[in-house]
Amino acid sequence: MTKWVYTFGNGKAEGGASDRDLLGGKGANLAEMASLGLPVPPGMTIVADACSWFYQNGHTLPESLAGQVLEALAAIEADTGRKFAGSERPLLLSVRSGARVSMPGMMDTVLNLGLNDETVQALGHDAGDARFAWDSYRRFIQMYADVVMGLDHEFFEDILEEEKGRLGLEHDTDITAVEWQSIVTRYKTLIEDELGEPFPQDPVEQLWGAVAAVFKSWMNPRAVTYRHLHDIPEAWGTAVNIQSMVFGNLGNASATGVAFTRNPSTGEKMLYGEFLVNAQGEDVVAGIRTPQSITEAGRIASGMDKPSLEKLMPEAFAELNAIATRLEEHYCDMQDLEFTIERGKLWMLQTRSGKRTAKAGMKIAVDMVDEGVIDLDEAIMRVEPSSLDQLLHPTVDPRANAPVIGSGLPASPGAATGEIVFSAEEAVAAQNEGRKVILVRVETSPEDIHGMHVAEGILTTRGGMTSHAAVVARGMGIPCVTGAGTMRVDMRNEVLLGLGVVLKRGDVITIDGSSGHVMKGAVPTLQPELSGDFGRIMGWADSVRRMTVRTNADTPTDAHSARSFGAEGIGLCRTEHMFFEGDRIHAMREMILAETVEGRQASLDKLLPMQRSDFTELFTIMHGMPVTIRLLDPPLHEFLPKNDEEVAEVAAAMGMDAITMRERIDALHEFNPMLGHRGCRLAISHPEIVEMQARAIFEAAVAAAKETGAPVVPEIMVPLVGLRAELDYVKERIDTIARAVMTESGTELSYLVGTMIELPRAALRAHEIAEAAEFFSYGTNDLTQTTFGISRDDAAAFLNTYQRKGVIDHDPFISIDLDGVGELMKLASERGRKTRPDMKLGICGEHGGDPVSIHFCETIGLDYVSCSPFRVPIARLAAAQAAIRVKRGEG
Ligand code: ADP
Ligand code: MG
Ligand code: MG
Repeated sequence: MTKWVYTFGNGKAEGGASDRDLLGGKGANLAEMASLGLPVPPGMTIVADACSWFYQNGHTLPESLAGQVLEALAAIEADTGRKFAGSERPLLLSVRSGARVSMPGMMDTVLNLGLNDETVQALGHDAGDARFAWDSYRRFIQMYADVVMGLDHEFFEDILEEEKGRLGLEHDTDITAVEWQSIVTRYKTLIEDELGEPFPQDPVEQLWGAVAAVFKSWMNPRAVTYRHLHDIPEAWGTAVNIQSMVFGNLGNASATGVAFTRNPSTGEKMLYGEFLVNAQGEDVVAGIRTPQSITEAGRIASGMDKPSLEKLMPEAFAELNAIATRLEEHYCDMQDLEFTIERGKLWMLQTRSGKRTAKAGMKIAVDMVDEGVIDLDEAIMRVEPSSLDQLLHPTVDPRANAPVIGSGLPASPGAATGEIVFSAEEAVAAQNEGRKVILVRVETSPEDIHGMHVAEGILTTRGGMTSHAAVVARGMGIPCVTGAGTMRVDMRNEVLLGLGVVLKRGDVITIDGSSGHVMKGAVPTLQPELSGDFGRIMGWADSVRRMTVRTNADTPTDAHSARSFGAEGIGLCRTEHMFFEGDRIHAMREMILAETVEGRQASLDKLLPMQRSDFTELFTIMHGMPVTIRLLDPPLHEFLPKNDEEVAEVAAAMGMDAITMRERIDALHEFNPMLGHRGCRLAISHPEIVEMQARAIFEAAVAAAKETGAPVVPEIMVPLVGLRAELDYVKERIDTIARAVMTESGTELSYLVGTMIELPRAALRAHEIAEAAEFFSYGTNDLTQTTFGISRDDAAAFLNTYQRKGVIDHDPFISIDLDGVGELMKLASERGRKTRPDMKLGICGEHGGDPVSIHFCETIGLDYVSCSPFRVPIARLAAAQAAIRVKRGEG
């Protein structure tokens, strides 16, 4: 027979901490605490499998369950000396949900179950406190009606407020037994009136109602959404904990509270928490009364005048403190505790690993290593790589308490303050005058890049986490909030409308790209701290990881910041950005629009020294570290003027008439530029472009080596290769130039020529391409686009729907699609290395900074990952964690 029910209490338990999958986190830890001999009110856990059973069998419960529950109930009755539904010492129960991982959005707990018009009298009699009994009954009716019967709690709160007003009372605690009794009568009438059925008086019926409600809450919309956001499988289900009640609302020697074994925002090693006297569970979080501090130190620090638990109930406090230490030692991690004190006696109601800020997480991990509690590997595993984002950027000072005037998606972390501008041009103009700006747009497009670059932050009212603004801002490490749907940009009147405010150009706002909030004015921020605990964790991570971490950097600024974040080379330098700067665009346009090879060569000659000096600077900054340079990749028309005014201007400069110019531009138009004349296809049509770029690279290598004394080994990367012959053709040009530069300069040069793998064909023919390519770098942005046949720029419209409808479980542009794109990468790596065993393999798509994708890269043996500068520390930590997981055999 299936065992559906596990009991705990009285120094023993049928399950334990390792039974999380079966009993849920709450149940497993209640069992563990009971086995440790801690004071846990006895109870039982109905296993999570019963939840799956419930859904597979038309919302019914397995037959053998009832018997097992009643049997366990009898044991609880024996332990507590009370009787469920008893008319003398009634046993009351709490019914609590609890999935494998802690999940807000699930069912609210029902407390005081088992009360009815008779047992309430018995409870009051037994406790010698009728007020307490009626207080418990009214709580129960309200919770049960809300959670099980679906009648909103506000109805009840309205009645309570009305009664308090009538009685002239301010606090619930001032209400007498008789007054509660008449409130209870009104509650019951309300339920009959609203639902057409009475409040159930039979405790057994109440119990099964609550159990079914827990199971049903697994599918409520809040829970479903939460699971989607956190990749929690629906199949897990939730367990149900049924536990005997202890009472924090039994007078002034009773209390209820929550505590952390260390401070969850700073990590400081010191008990930290809050409690309320004469209260039950929800009161602490409900914010009806202001909770008091647990420790005297905490009370003083927060300037509260109400006494601490330490002062008020020294014995219970001492016991709580001892238990906190014991639990932390037992679990080797900071714990989040829930407790209740009933007439001076302490009861433990929950323990779990406490949530913490990134800063606290770092400090706790480092301190625990120093305390000898955990080893280095474990410390590395304890820090969530993506949480480092919080640490690497300025953050809004939480003490500022600034009112929020709008909010959107936290697209790129960090806080930024500046004047509002509505266009890229204004942003550039403002920057030239030394003013700091926030670029506010409905959406951004590639034409806004120059403005985005100089802005402190970016705010868009449309677009998602992978919109143009979001992707570019993350790449640049600029704070960004996208899709701020509660705000509106009125371009005609040039105003930004937010919650109760109309803001003009030049008005100052602060955006928080970590929370998605938008605030009016300059809100104080806190600067990141990269030494100390952060430095130690990163040092440990560097010592265990196998893959190196490079950066995607196109500019000296990027390269500098990447090095300060610990990048070990450049994995992707996109040369096209270099052509947008200043008046280079003119020479570039002349080159593209030239009608003859000589004409083109003349403009390339102008571009050569500019490229050479860019590369020299990059090589110098990187000081002998590997630098991968990608040859010109985007379709040429991206560089061309768009509106008539610009066309006329360019035509005049080139001595061409505007009409001919327009014709030339139109001739370059493509229906599907992403799959058009770009990448190595350009190099094959116009080899003189490659020759110029190769020359610039080699001459720069010679110059930089002279300057730094560190030899430079440039890695030249050919984009969008699908055929081996494409690579052969381009490589031939590069090799010729290399020989020429070596002769001219009289220096030996080492360099590598390799290719991006960003087309499925290239992945499939990797063994062949590897005969010519000395390295592969997975361009997973394009590889994802070409494998799925989805354009990233157009994907937002339907990928969100896909995710919502469960067609896909995550955005493949954020985390590598392991089954499809990942399979191609694995296969290409194997085939490539078969031809060339020492072949260097890396990744340079956005995925190179995503921890899950990094783990995958470790498992297929890549040599490096490359990501935007601000993600370098995240990648270093994620690569270390991946190595540890592989070492532990977990992946
Ligand atoms: P959540 O998962 O939302 O924290 P819990 O099941 O932990 O919900 O219950 C919330 C609160 O209800 C607890 O913190 C505690 O104060 C109170 N509570 C739960 N079970 C009991 C119990 N057996 N006796 C007294 N209070 C309880
Ligand atoms: Mg809880
Ligand atoms: Mg590409």
